[in-house]
Amino acid sequence: MERKSAWEKYDKKGLKKVFDFCEGYKEFITECKTERECVDRLVENAESCGYRDLQEIIEKGEKLKAGDKVYAVNMGKTLALFNIGKDSLEAGMNILGAHIDSPRLDLKQNPLYEDESLAMMETHYYGGVKKYQWVARPMALHGVVVKKDGTSVAVKLGESPDEPVIGVSDLLIHLSATQLQKKGDKVVEGEDLNLLVGSIPVKGEKKEPVKKAILKILKEKYGMDEADFQSAEFEVVPAEAARDYGLDSSMIIGYGQDDRICAYPSAEAMFAVSDPQRTCVCLLVDKEEIGSVGATGMHSRFFENTVAEIMNAMGCYSELSLRRAMSSSHVLSSDVSAAFDPNYPSVMEKNNCAYFGKGVAFNKYTGSRGKSGSNDANPEYIAKLRRILDDENIYYQTSELGKVDQGGGGTIAYILANYGMEVIDSGIAVQNMHAPYEVASKVDIYEARLAYEAFLRNMLK
Ligand code: MN
Ligand code: MN
Repeated sequence: MERKSAWEKYDKKGLKKVFDFCEGYKEFITECKTERECVDRLVENAESCGYRDLQEIIEKGEKLKAGDKVYAVNMGKTLALFNIGKDSLEAGMNILGAHIDSPRLDLKQNPLYEDESLAMMETHYYGGVKKYQWVARPMALHGVVVKKDGTSVAVKLGESPDEPVIGVSDLLIHLSATQLQKKGDKVVEGEDLNLLVGSIPVKGEKKEPVKKAILKILKEKYGMDEADFQSAEFEVVPAEAARDYGLDSSMIIGYGQDDRICAYPSAEAMFAVSDPQRTCVCLLVDKEEIGSVGATGMHSRFFENTVAEIMNAMGCYSELSLRRAMSSSHVLSSDVSAAFDPNYPSVMEKNNCAYFGKGVAFNKYTGSRGKSGSNDANPEYIAKLRRILDDENIYYQTSELGKVDQGGGGTIAYILANYGMEVIDSGIAVQNMHAPYEVASKVDIYEARLAYEAFLRNMLK
């Protein structure tokens, strides 16, 4: 089937809109490199668009009605935005889902040590990574330290040009004869992903003088002691800003595009919708990269509980109404897909992979082997989506993640589908998925933004 280039669709004025939107996106992924930073920023944006904190409404015993906009934050790492529609909640919601966690190196709980007058930090990688990609590059330290008295300090170090960065060393080629004989997954091993963080000793100090000097800096900068690492959450991420990519600036290279590339246009689409027919939801979750587990992952009851609270504040809560609201809902479960890469054509099946510049990508199913672990979207639902997007001339493509039996992947789709919702995987194609720097096409990001808004406004039961 012919796939048209979404670039062809735009005149000069249209192209400016595509590029301008992507400036906002680049700024977002440059500034927001952890789930907490994404939540904080989007709450700020939501409030400026008239969204109110659901918790405050519950505490004040206020009522909610059609036209109200509220948000709920779960432990600082998951965000749900609701724009309450004219239809009853029992009629279901239009839900945009995406995740805001990304692969990275986390500091261990007892990270700091000294080895031959070098201060080092232990890490444990998060998500699926090719470990050899995470060495010999500038890295920034983002996170939060919570002290015993409950006060918490946000840390963001290495993003501004006048701040130092840290990093994991790689072995020089001159001495790599043994290393280069190893298999790819053993070239750099997980336990060797240690960060070099300092080399000046405290004068006259006998025991661990360099480590002590680093602790002094941490005390001065963040008021933290070594023991405070125990109640800290530090994420080590590629430093530096997202940039335009390609001589024509048609693409973006940056860290954490999986899956902030879907989260950002989802939130932006949400902010653009007013007085919807059906209740619109944007649900941005944590922990997708490690199986959607835990209190802030999609498997948690947070979303269901939040819908129950909203129904209660609307005076229409019952167990049955809640179940109906959930099972009548429609979802675009947005996550990145693999873009065709001319350097690696052997893993792609050309008729059914995603391409740069061909619009938002729908995966009817994901999974591995015989579609194992996949949500398999219903054709009745896909037909509705085709109609909505074609009506507004929004470009989309259908795809699978690579060749059959070549690998695979999962998303949050199947978890929402457990409620009986109509769910499809949709998202944006990227190259270098899970590498420190991922690449995506600007026009695909823009088509996704348009697709999300059209879905929120026009998907009806
Ligand atoms: Mn991923
Ligand atoms: Mn993802």
